[in-house]
Amino acid sequence: MNSLQEVAHPLLVIDGSVGEGGGQILRSSLTLAVCLQRPIRLINIRKKRSKPGLLRQHLTCVRAAKEICGAYVEGDFLGSNEISFYPGKVQPGRYCFKISTAGSTCLVFQTVLLPLVLKTNQVSEIVFEGGTHNPKAPALDFITESFLVFCKQLGINADVELDRYGFSPAGGGRWTATVYPRSDVEKNKACVFEKNDDKDINIKLQAVSSNIPKSINFREIEKFRHLAKNIDLNTEDKRINTLGQGNVLIATIANQGYSNVLMQLGEHKLSAEQVAEKLYRRCSELMESGAQASEYLADQLMLPLALCGGGEFTTNELTLHAKTNGDVIKLFGGDVKYTKLKANLWKVFVSPIAC
Ligand code: AMP
Repeated sequence: MNSLQEVAHPLLVIDGSVGEGGGQILRSSLTLAVCLQRPIRLINIRKKRSKPGLLRQHLTCVRAAKEICGAYVEGDFLGSNEISFYPGKVQPGRYCFKISTAGSTCLVFQTVLLPLVLKTNQVSEIVFEGGTHNPKAPALDFITESFLVFCKQLGINADVELDRYGFSPAGGGRWTATVYPRSDVEKNKACVFEKNDDKDINIKLQAVSSNIPKSINFREIEKFRHLAKNIDLNTEDKRINTLGQGNVLIATIANQGYSNVLMQLGEHKLSAEQVAEKLYRRCSELMESGAQASEYLADQLMLPLALCGGGEFTTNELTLHAKTNGDVIKLFGGDVKYTKLKANLWKVFVSPIAC
């Protein structure tokens, strides 16, 4: 244990059962702890989930955060409800983080991205294995086409190369991220997300499937095309090979430099047409609102903004995930405020934390 760090920064105790009470409190706390070199103790981890404590994905996040900075950690085992985490200096390099289940590798990526970008001055290369397109998590397309597109404006740069998709429950996905340190020029650049008042919208629609009948992709695309008749639509019918079966319909909505990705995973008992309808409904809600960031991007943008000089953006829905993430940031000395502009539009203000 590093007692010097304890003297410099008293241990910050974070209750993982508050607000949304899920894995995001853990991941955001780890990222902030490493970036701010702040020792933390997390209690009641994922208390509000049906299987509380550290599952494989969360444990991989803890171990990944530990590995990149040589942290001293107590409680990093499966099912653990409490960890203590004493961060060390972040080291750039080559890493490989494997989740032996189909757990979301994208969430592991988000845990280590900011420390490697902000606290090192060399390129890092990270290989991820596990799930790439999971329920209740950002899909890899969301990371590349939305999250990293916004992050680029903050000087956070990463390239992604996908080797293999990984769907739940089989997993088996694999991809590599090359992560670049933030340059001094970028550090001094103020980030302003421009207003989103351009009505000229286009959607890239991808139907991706593996080991299921060919007709599914076609039916999903045709149904979506029918619903989105007045929208400029580019479609792609993509068949891939994965362990097990998989199907996802992905819409990338672009206008005026903004890029939001919404996805709907195929499920048993959900017809191809229902998959398309569900996705289209969420796309139209976002487009109608004129928001810059989807409800998912909203909670995920807060940390990069807080650690890269602060900023503001609009979102169509202020979720409990977003409010909880804002509360975690406040615990570390930052601030996040919200104003309701209209029924389906919120403005989020994120103050900077010195990093
Ligand atoms: P938690 O449930 O606490 O583990 O957090 C889940 C994270 O995944 C949050 O940051 C959500 O915004 C994100 N998320 C969930 N569903 C999606 C989705 N369909 N697209 C993008 N991100 C998502």
